[in-house]
Amino acid sequence: MEPQKIILFGGTFDPPHNGHIALLREAIAAVQPDQVLVMPSGIPPHKAAGSTPGTMRAAMCECFRPLFENLIIDTREIERGGKSYTIDTVRELGEEYPKAQLYFPMGSDMLLWFHNWVEYKELLRRLIIVAQVRRNEDAAAAHSAAQELRQQGGRVILTKAPVVAVSSTQVRAALQQGKPAQQLLPGSVAEYIERHGLYRKERERSTE
Ligand code: ATP
Repeated sequence: MEPQKIILFGGTFDPPHNGHIALLREAIAAVQPDQVLVMPSGIPPHKAAGSTPGTMRAAMCECFRPLFENLIIDTREIERGGKSYTIDTVRELGEEYPKAQLYFPMGSDMLLWFHNWVEYKELLRRLIIVAQVRRNEDAAAAHSAAQELRQQGGRVILTKAPVVAVSSTQVRAALQQGKPAQQLLPGSVAEYIERHGLYRKERERSTE
C-alpha cells in the first residue's frame, strides 16, 4: 500500500548525534508515519573539502534504523552532488508519492531561518513542519516563528519534548580536541567514528 504519511528527515548528519535521535523519535511519536526517509544532504563544492564524504555520513545514519521499522536512508541528494534545495527534493517526492502527506522534522535553528529557504511558501504548502526547541533560550522565538508561519497558512507542530542541546559542530570540536563524545552520540556512530578515525586532528590521522 502506498504510504499516507511520510517523515522526511533531512540534515548534514556530520555526524548524526543524540539531538537528531531525540528529534526523530519525537516526530515519529507525534506523526505515527507509515514511512521514514532519512536524507543526508549533498554538500556544496566550496564546503566539500573539509566535510565527511556522503557515503560515510549515510553509513552513520544507520543509527536511525532502530527507531522505525520502515525507515529508508535515501541518498539521492548525495548522488545529485552539490547543494540540493529542499523544494526540489520535495517536488520529486510529491511525484513519487502523490497521495502522501510529508512531515519535515527540524530544530528551532531551522525554524527561525525557514522564511529564508528557497520557495519557503511553496514548502509551507507541501509540508507539515515538526519542530523541536534546541536550546532553552530559543523557546520564545520558536513559538513566535511557528505562529508567523501559521499565519501564512503553514502547518507547524511544535513538540513539547525536552531540549537535547547537542550539535554536530560540538561533537566535531570535542573529537578534534581529543575529548570524549560518546555521551553525545548513539553507540554505533561512536564506533564508526573510532573505526574510521573521523574528526581527528590531521596530525593524528596521518600517523596511523
Ligand atoms: P552543525 O552543528 O554541523 O550545523 P547540526 O547539529 O545542526 O549540525 P544538522 O545535520 O544540520 O545538525 O541538522 C539536521 C536537522 O536536525 C536540522 O533541522 C536541525 O535543526 C536538527 N537538529 C540538530 N540537532 C538538534 C537538536 N539537538 N535538537 C533538535 N533538533 C536538532
